Amino acid sequence: MTPARPPSRDAAVARPVALTVLPNPPAQVTPAGRRGRPPRHLADLDLAGRRAAVAGLGEPSFRAVQLSRHFFGRYTEHPDDMTDLPLTSRAALASALLPPLLTAERELSCDDGTTRKTLWRAFDGALVESVLMRYPDRVTMCVSSQAGCGMGCPFCATGQAGLTRNLSTAEIVAQVVAGARVLASGQVPGGPGRVSNVVFMGMGEPLANYANVVAAVRRLTEPVPEGLGISHRSVTVSTVGLVPAIARLAAEHLSITLAVSLHAPDDELRDTLVPVNRRWKVAEVLDAAWDYAAVTGRRVSIEYALIKDINDQARRADLLGSLLAGRLVHVNLIPLNPTPGSKWTASRPSAQREFVRRLESHGVPVTVRDTRGREIDGACGQLAASASPASGPPLVTQILARLRWQLVHRAWDAAQRAGVITADTPAGRRFAAFGPGSMAAFPPGSLFGERWIAIGDGTLIGALVSLSAGMVPGQDLGPAPVLRIGDRCVIGRGSHIVAHQSLSIGDDVFTGPYVYITDQNHGYADPDEPIGRQMPCNAGVRIGSGSWLGAGAIVLPGACIGRNVVVAAGSVVRGTVPDRCVVAGVPARVVRHYVPGDGWTPSASAPQSSPLAAPAPERLQGVAQAPDPPG
Ligand code: SF4
Repeated sequence: MTPARPPSRDAAVARPVALTVLPNPPAQVTPAGRRGRPPRHLADLDLAGRRAAVAGLGEPSFRAVQLSRHFFGRYTEHPDDMTDLPLTSRAALASALLPPLLTAERELSCDDGTTRKTLWRAFDGALVESVLMRYPDRVTMCVSSQAGCGMGCPFCATGQAGLTRNLSTAEIVAQVVAGARVLASGQVPGGPGRVSNVVFMGMGEPLANYANVVAAVRRLTEPVPEGLGISHRSVTVSTVGLVPAIARLAAEHLSITLAVSLHAPDDELRDTLVPVNRRWKVAEVLDAAWDYAAVTGRRVSIEYALIKDINDQARRADLLGSLLAGRLVHVNLIPLNPTPGSKWTASRPSAQREFVRRLESHGVPVTVRDTRGREIDGACGQLAASASPASGPPLVTQILARLRWQLVHRAWDAAQRAGVITADTPAGRRFAAFGPGSMAAFPPGSLFGERWIAIGDGTLIGALVSLSAGMVPGQDLGPAPVLRIGDRCVIGRGSHIVAHQSLSIGDDVFTGPYVYITDQNHGYADPDEPIGRQMPCNAGVRIGSGSWLGAGAIVLPGACIGRNVVVAAGSVVRGTVPDRCVVAGVPARVVRHYVPGDGWTPSASAPQSSPLAAPAPERLQGVAQAPDPPG
């Protein structure tokens, strides 16, 4: 998530700030490292659940309302404050339904005390942060939804430490109640006040903890005594773009604001900045956001951390503007406050201004977040990472590990780019033919006999694919290629295609990973001779155009597979397979075939209790009559 105001998890401590270290009551903290569910708390339950829980303790159910008023209306959990409860019941009720969940570990403040960040330690030692920000017209609480985060955004300190666990509903609500408590008691300059806004932009990806976050939103927005009584419209839930969860949130019909942490308008960059983009692309995320806006009528907030020379170019501003123009949207630009050791930093002011100008030229409303509270926001994520040995290795060790990781991955990316085989590389020129637009990824598997291997145009061969012609490197196989792969094929990673006599694959053939295709088997006629030393048997293999071979399929010598055939994953194919059918099993059998005029038999909806016999011979189009694949 992008934090509400400057990025709360991706920034550094910029200068000394007011720091208060509060004592950590040992009796309230479970030894670090213990994992399990947080204790049940009143805020985990709706009012009916609380009534049932109270009744289960042998108390009249209306005590649930009394307890709820204490927690949500007076922000207290202490039995001594609950003078409307019988003295004999207070301790038991509070112990059962108001157990301590979060203990303040540290508190940082700035902006003359109107911005306060608290580092909390949960029952199991997990660390989370919340921030209270008081403005003249409102008080906003930025809360965490997870301890750590599993989304791995590389510019974010929280993302570097990984996910510890989801917070419970009550642990989320407790952060807001704690803020409400200090406000009500007048500890925040400006006089007693109340929390008016809540943003789920602290640690974690809220929609990855969907059930607890939605329940927390309900607790925050239901009126006292059910909840805190904050307006739906004053609650913002952010996401990096978990598309199914956005759709699910829209269906909840909560009038809360959705904030999408976009950070890049193009998939190429966003795949790196927000790794979950590899699963849900920019267009899918924005479509889900527009659907959310249509259902709720709420303007979507687009969060965009401006990172110098990474995502702040004018062309990206224009692209973002064109994606958002005419939509119910507002853009928050957040100059990055960098993580120590990071190569990334905030955009230059001139680049920020130009970015704003270009967005506005598309009619997109945009705000550059102020930098108030930046000092303590800068410590967010990092504070949690470094505060306790229970939370992992020291920050400097994590940063060095991160740098090593980046170095290795960049070197590997560079090696993959440099090592790819195309028609223009020396390795590509060793082949009998290597068509334009074709490529074999790095690293290849075993390659030999390239002189007798012909590859068509636009064919993609995955990494670690072995292609061989002949028994050994250097063997003379005659004037013509013995292995032909047609145009526009895709050969899955780790596959082996082993040719000795004649192996041809048509156009547009796709294979899953680890497919094995060979035209030679070792003989086993002599039961006393090691099989590996017996004379092999060769029989040509042909695979018709348009066919698809599932992961791990094996095609044995002599196989003749027709056109547009589906070979199920793990099947072993030998013999002749007609056109337009599905084969599966070991050995593979026809389980579905296409009959002109009748369609697919059996239909996809028909029950299949046993494999079909092969279709009648007159129905079959022998692949032997099919034209040779090109190559
Ligand atoms: S790693 Fe998690 S907390 Fe950090 S920006 Fe990404 S989604 Fe947000």
